[in-house]
Amino acid sequence: MQDGYGRKIEYLRVSVTDRCNLRCVYCMPAEGVPSVPHEEILTYDEICRFCGIAAGLGISRIKLTGGEPLVRKNLHVLVKKLKETPGIEQVTLTTNGTLLRDQLAGLTAAGLDAVNISLDTLDEEKYTLVTRGGRLADAAQGIEAALASPGLPVKINCVPLQDGSDEDIVRLAELAGEHPLEVRFIEMMPIGMGKEFQGRGANEIKKLLESRFGKSLPCGKTLGNGPARYVEFQGFQGRIGFISALTHKFCRTCNRLRLTPEGMLKPCLQYGDGFDIKKLLRNGASDEQIAETVRAAVLDKPACHQFERENDPACRENRSAQEGRTMESREAEKSRRLEEREMSRIGG
Ligand code: SAM
Ligand code: SF4
Repeated sequence: MQDGYGRKIEYLRVSVTDRCNLRCVYCMPAEGVPSVPHEEILTYDEICRFCGIAAGLGISRIKLTGGEPLVRKNLHVLVKKLKETPGIEQVTLTTNGTLLRDQLAGLTAAGLDAVNISLDTLDEEKYTLVTRGGRLADAAQGIEAALASPGLPVKINCVPLQDGSDEDIVRLAELAGEHPLEVRFIEMMPIGMGKEFQGRGANEIKKLLESRFGKSLPCGKTLGNGPARYVEFQGFQGRIGFISALTHKFCRTCNRLRLTPEGMLKPCLQYGDGFDIKKLLRNGASDEQIAETVRAAVLDKPACHQFERENDPACRENRSAQEGRTMESREAEKSRRLEEREMSRIGG
């Protein structure tokens, strides 16, 4: 599928739950967010039906996310069903890793293709603080299990906080020195609780790492489905990646849609707009009607997020690349409703 700006849309992030066993400070309020009633959350059969229809339109890669996807029972069953869906080439997972060790064998047997594990620090106390109660040992065991799983690509995702220490960042990067995995530093996005925190920019982190590990080399290969830019350090087994939604805006190559736990299909992370897939699934809509809605969502993808709003060159460039769109639709884009939900409700 191509959107209104000529981008190829082939990647779907499916948030399977809004629930989480942690309360990361920049993602969820301490008291959590009111849970969506179970009956409002898409069943595995509903997710699979939707993904099958989306696969027929060109979605070939699916990321399972949340909330914490591993708090949902029997996630391996969903992985298996998705892997059996014609057209779906890859099913991957983003998790905080704390429940991974015990579930990994089932997930890989079901065909899981890769895992991303979120980890913001290797300091036990800070980990407990940032996750509001999590145990570093649980996440570490998840990472060890993933690394011990033959052929399973592993990425570590870190969202560095402005007031975090350089040492945390260096120690996390060292994981890519010691193991064949990617460590990615993600810029804080002003979504939900993230609005209240300052992250650290990619350039600053790259400079810091180069001061410790020497000059980095850009990595020629594209790794994964997303917007990360990778570099290599001499002697490292793995690579370092940067996902910089703010300082290196990547909307021009955006390839994704998002499905929330309640079945809203979101064209863009930043905006509250969505297409109600659950209503269609539960009201007897035909596959073709659902497919029509997916096409509409793709065509509704905005040129770019506006985290820093308006006079951004990447945004303008994207807009000027559009064909057949009127000034009116550009104005409509400006007035889109911004996302007010927490990241855990959308599936980061
Ligand atoms: N619970 C799983 C996890 O932590 O990996 C999956 C869901 S979580 C919402 C997905 C990713 O979004 C995590 O890596 C998390 O650090 C990141 N995230 C959450 N809030 C964010 C924000 N405001 N800006 C950037 N990344 C954020
Ligand atoms: Fe939970 Fe992931 Fe959000 Fe942390 S980042 S609170 S683990 S959903």
